[in-house]
Amino acid sequence: MADIIFKILLVGDASVGKTSLMLKFVDNHFENSYSSTIGLDYQTKIYNYKGYNIKLQIWDTAGQERFHSITSNFFHNADGILFIYDITNRNSFEGIKNWMKESEEIDNSLQKILLGNKCDLNDSRDVQKEEVEKFCNENNIDLFETSAKDNINLEEAFKRIIELVFKTKEAQNLLKNKDLSSSLIINDNIKKNNNAKCC
Ligand code: GDP
Ligand code: MG
Repeated sequence: MADIIFKILLVGDASVGKTSLMLKFVDNHFENSYSSTIGLDYQTKIYNYKGYNIKLQIWDTAGQERFHSITSNFFHNADGILFIYDITNRNSFEGIKNWMKESEEIDNSLQKILLGNKCDLNDSRDVQKEEVEKFCNENNIDLFETSAKDNINLEEAFKRIIELVFKTKEAQNLLKNKDLSSSLIINDNIKKNNNAKCC
């Protein structure tokens, strides 16, 4: 059973590999083509971190990103965002600035990291890592170059966003002491039973 849920969003231009990254991380599965209308809202994966069973809800977009029509509902209750561009597509990196702006207008308190996906295609690279590192320093955001195809840096990237969200929740006292919370549930049930008896 999960102790806590983290809602993580995948945001970036069409074709950068959002669906591929999600399915590779959750299912260890990669396809050479995915329909943009695969249509699943999210996939879940239990991730153990610091003794907590964290249920990751990883939200993908079902093609809405093509029209920049991602609704504010998508961002509702989110904890973290993976911004994703494709290292072989310069426009997709330029697009990140807009995605960041849009997300900040909706919610400025989310944890964020940046992923340069398709790093297996280094020969066709169109975005230099040094340039992105400079952007990341200025914006105080971590960068991971990933490959959903060859499973490069996916664990590391997800671990980092989990770490960042965990720290925020810890600072806000939102992580319940697990032993305490299960005993609270038992007490609550006893109370309910007592109420049932007396009324
Ligand atoms: P989305 O539109 O952002 O969800 O992108 P998709 O996951 O549908 O991927 C778009 C295309 O890029 C597909 O043909 C994928 O097979 C391909 N792709 C995704 N990730 C990688 C990767 O890491 N390396 C390579 N070479 N191709 C990838
Ligand atoms: Mg997709």
